[in-house]
Amino acid sequence: MSVAPPSARPETAAGSDLPALAARLAGELHFDRLMRQLYATDASEYQELPLAVALPRSEQDVRELVHHAARHRVGLIPRGAGTSLAGQVVGGGIVVDVGRHLNHILAIDPDARRARVQPGVVRNELNLALAPHGLFFAPETSTANRAMIGGMAGNNSCGANSIVYGTTREHLVSVRGFLSDGTETTFGPLTPEEFAAKCAGPDTLETRIYRAVRDLLGNTKNRDLIRTCFPKPEVTRRNTGYALDRLMDCRVFDPASARPFNLCQLLAGSEGTLFLGVEYELNLEPLPPPGALMCAHFATINDALHATLVALRHRPHGCELIDRHILECTKANLEHAKNRFFVQGDPGAVLVIEIRRPTRAEVEATMRALESDLRKVRPPHLAASPSPGPAPQPGYAFPVLWGDDVNRVWDLRRAGQGLMNNVEGDAKPREIVEDTAVAVADLPAYIADFDALMRNKYGISCVYYAHAGAGELHTRPLFNLKTPEGRRMFRSIATDVAALVKRYRGSLSGEHGDGRLRGEFIRFMVGDECYALMRWVKAIFDPHGIFNPGKIIDTPPMDTSLRHAPGHAAPEHATVFNFAASQGVLRAAEKCTGVGECRKTHLMGGTMCPSYMATRNEKDTTRARANVLRDVLTHARGANPWDSPAVAAVMDLCLSCKGCKSECPSNVDVARLKAEWQQHYHDAHGVPLRSRLVAGFARSMRFASALPWLYNWAVTAPDVSRFIKRFAGFAPRRSLPRLHATTLRAWFARHGNGGPVAREADPPRAVDPFPHGRVFLFCDEFTNYTDADVGIKAVQLLNRLGYRVEIPPHVESGRAHLSKGLVRDARRLAMWNVEMLREVVSAPSPLIGIEPSAILSFRDEYPDLVPDHFIAAARELAQHALLIDEFIAREADAGRIRREAFTTRPAMIKLHGHCHQKALSSLQPTVRMLGLPANYQVAVIPSGCCGMAGSFGYEEEHFALSQQIGELVLFPAVRSAPADTLIAAPGTSCRHQIRDGTGRTALHPVEILHAALA
Ligand SMILES: Cc1cc2nc3c(=O)[nH]c(=O)nc-3n(C[C@H](O)[C@H](O)[C@H](O)COP(=O)(O)OP(=O)(O)OC[C@H]3O[C@@H](n4cnc5c(N)ncnc54)[C@H](O)[C@@H]3O)c2cc1C
Ligand code: SF4
Ligand code: SF4
Repeated sequence: MSVAPPSARPETAAGSDLPALAARLAGELHFDRLMRQLYATDASEYQELPLAVALPRSEQDVRELVHHAARHRVGLIPRGAGTSLAGQVVGGGIVVDVGRHLNHILAIDPDARRARVQPGVVRNELNLALAPHGLFFAPETSTANRAMIGGMAGNNSCGANSIVYGTTREHLVSVRGFLSDGTETTFGPLTPEEFAAKCAGPDTLETRIYRAVRDLLGNTKNRDLIRTCFPKPEVTRRNTGYALDRLMDCRVFDPASARPFNLCQLLAGSEGTLFLGVEYELNLEPLPPPGALMCAHFATINDALHATLVALRHRPHGCELIDRHILECTKANLEHAKNRFFVQGDPGAVLVIEIRRPTRAEVEATMRALESDLRKVRPPHLAASPSPGPAPQPGYAFPVLWGDDVNRVWDLRRAGQGLMNNVEGDAKPREIVEDTAVAVADLPAYIADFDALMRNKYGISCVYYAHAGAGELHTRPLFNLKTPEGRRMFRSIATDVAALVKRYRGSLSGEHGDGRLRGEFIRFMVGDECYALMRWVKAIFDPHGIFNPGKIIDTPPMDTSLRHAPGHAAPEHATVFNFAASQGVLRAAEKCTGVGECRKTHLMGGTMCPSYMATRNEKDTTRARANVLRDVLTHARGANPWDSPAVAAVMDLCLSCKGCKSECPSNVDVARLKAEWQQHYHDAHGVPLRSRLVAGFARSMRFASALPWLYNWAVTAPDVSRFIKRFAGFAPRRSLPRLHATTLRAWFARHGNGGPVAREADPPRAVDPFPHGRVFLFCDEFTNYTDADVGIKAVQLLNRLGYRVEIPPHVESGRAHLSKGLVRDARRLAMWNVEMLREVVSAPSPLIGIEPSAILSFRDEYPDLVPDHFIAAARELAQHALLIDEFIAREADAGRIRREAFTTRPAMIKLHGHCHQKALSSLQPTVRMLGLPANYQVAVIPSGCCGMAGSFGYEEEHFALSQQIGELVLFPAVRSAPADTLIAAPGTSCRHQIRDGTGRTALHPVEILHAALA
């Protein structure tokens, strides 16, 4: 039997019928270029434009799609979060995004420890729902905050805990879905009698499948062949081709086996090539007891790998390796620089060993025994180690971490893959052989051979990390795939490593699957005869090859359909921002490798990406934005390559919150890319009126502040304000900001540092009232006009705490201009500010700011915005530009601000952080500052972006989304706060959004601290 390839030109055959198909679906079918482009990649090196993208809303839609595909011989590519690393969801057919609508948990049965879910349920979200029952779905992946059950089953995913729980396959009880002829079927556990009954059923595709499997695996010769050709039994991670070895391990074919027959064993890891699942029944495990992590430090990877064998004797829950390269990458990552707190010295590798036991005492005892073993030089049982490498040395530091620190280390470990892509330039660590697996005992020798191969034959070094305890290290050679030479190396390395893995009888993929990357090598790995059996399986299930064609069977060459055409010189583009740090704007977009961290939902915490969190559309991810921009800039045509409606479409809902700048493991900075793109787009189309109005905020306010009562009347009188909003394109339901009776500058000119600071009871000051020196207050445009009261309180607070305040004659920050893509204007403002402030601001007399988005421009944008001759000054200034929260926390730490200055009355505060502050600094200084009064308690609301984001939430077409984002976490948290709880929010937009969305008044932390002065 042979597999019919899908129509060579399905576009012609099926394309014409797509509108009719769309009409039959309750969900959506997109065949416009933009959507096809968004689904042309996953997290791999591959790219191919699909024919269409379907977002089925019901099982009936899925059935329609399968019927359509069968009738027109067009491929269907099931897709979850699209985080596959080997190109599993890249292809020319119809991509079926099961995550958009089919994402419901259908049932949880705590007694039977079973859950039934749709394919689009995110693994970690499932576990949030299971936690109250004391249960969890055990298999995990580093991508578990967005990977979906359908995708995990498709790839047979597993993670750090696989040494205890195995892979998804072991937890898949049954699957319901559609066969290639459109019939609905459920595959689950069968006794030998039930299996026989299935084989004796009527002549349907399902019956033919059972009969064929009976013939194939009932044959002793075939079973022997499979036993000999598949990886060693000790290799626990084995995702090479179809899992015939696992399928035959059951009572039907082996009376000695206790297992029932279950086709789920085969479907797990079949990469959507056999079946389209719509309902998954999963086995659940009791939540494990809490535990601790030992981060054992070693001088070399070889030492750590030998130590792995020692660690495994202590029954760890996980045993993962992080090498020096990864630890280096964390230094430059805003988020993970905070998570490398546990590193001591300069280790070549850290072995992260998780111990979980019922009591803390047991965990501590195991940790002591473990450390004692790891400290021994060459433990006796290692003396006979077959490793060709140098004799292993003991570790040198063994910190044990508990509580939240454990999560921080796991976060860092999970970010490994993305972190490494943050290498500047075109030479990147590449997925080729990134998850080869061997028996754990073979790992030191295998890695030594692997390393020697890379160094001696290719002259390249590798990054090693991850699942040491399961015999699998992620190994990623660093080279430039954009060159013809790099492309040759791509194939050559894959071929050499396949031979090496075969020598150890390992698996070419331990967890990531074959996809387009390794599919070509399956025949080599298992041999011709075994491969013929796999072909047979495909032909029985899917005779016309409609399910994910070109994966596992008849995979196209691994070096075709790559994202980057080799030899295609990366075009250079003139920019206003300086993108030198990423070697140009195109490479800044290319940093995104599609790992999809930006698809996590609000339930997973963090800020990135608010638009996706609200809409759950791939189009609204950071990844979509980077992908489209990369495509446009790579294939630049015409005088202005930026003039692209596709980029406009994906950028529309970007709130410029900068969440991606810190939370994306590759630090893709879409806010900056958006501003740059907008500037060039304006160059082609002119600047819209609304953008001019927003950017001209400070100028308008200057005029309005001459008669603030008139302005305030206008923005609050219903008819007038309705007219203003309609004229400006703002949402009718949005309130407009009001002016303060005076501006901060005017107030300061009158009162200076002699404002009503002192209490009446204070004695006249004989000594210097400002013993702690002088600070410069950045009188940003928002504080100056609309939040002058906050500014006044800031001056008074600083005075009372012993600081003289000066407000220099600087200009506005340029934040409003940046948010609207008027980057050249922002650049001029940045130059003035740098020129004005460079001489006066210094470490002892810093520039401090009240509105985070304004003051942080000095740190984030200015150094890359000003001309070359200003860069050094801008960088110097950036170091001394502080949020007022940071300044007060710093001074408190230095002992210059003391608790005694504040009340002892108790208060509860709920704090919502500003996105830019979270991305570029941290909320910790604000928490520290608000916690200065002895009895103030501060709880951080786990909110991301508030949804306002400057003018975004005012804009008519964005108002609804802005509210939706607010409703995710922030509004419910504010509404549920008792009336006497103070709501703190450093951002002016956030405070406005909270007021409009909940009716509650949020205060700047400065206001709270001012009111707390003793
Ligand atoms: C940074 C990074 C780290 C990773 N770490 C791990 C790791 O630790 N462990 C690990 O195992 N993997 C890892 N992966 C790979 C990947 O994230 C996992 O395989 C993940 O489970 C895939 O889930 P997904 O929802 O993105 O699936 P997708 O990539 O969308 O799809 C995966 C496969 O499932 C098929 N599929 C999806 N839905 C269905 C359906 N309804 N019916 C039939 N077939 C379907 C698809 O066709 C495809 O072949 C990592 C990837 C990245 C980018
Ligand atoms: S934008 Fe960042 S987080 Fe999103 S897919 Fe790309 S690399 Fe990953
Ligand atoms: S700036 Fe914010 S909204 Fe825009 S892509 Fe990044 S995380 Fe998403």
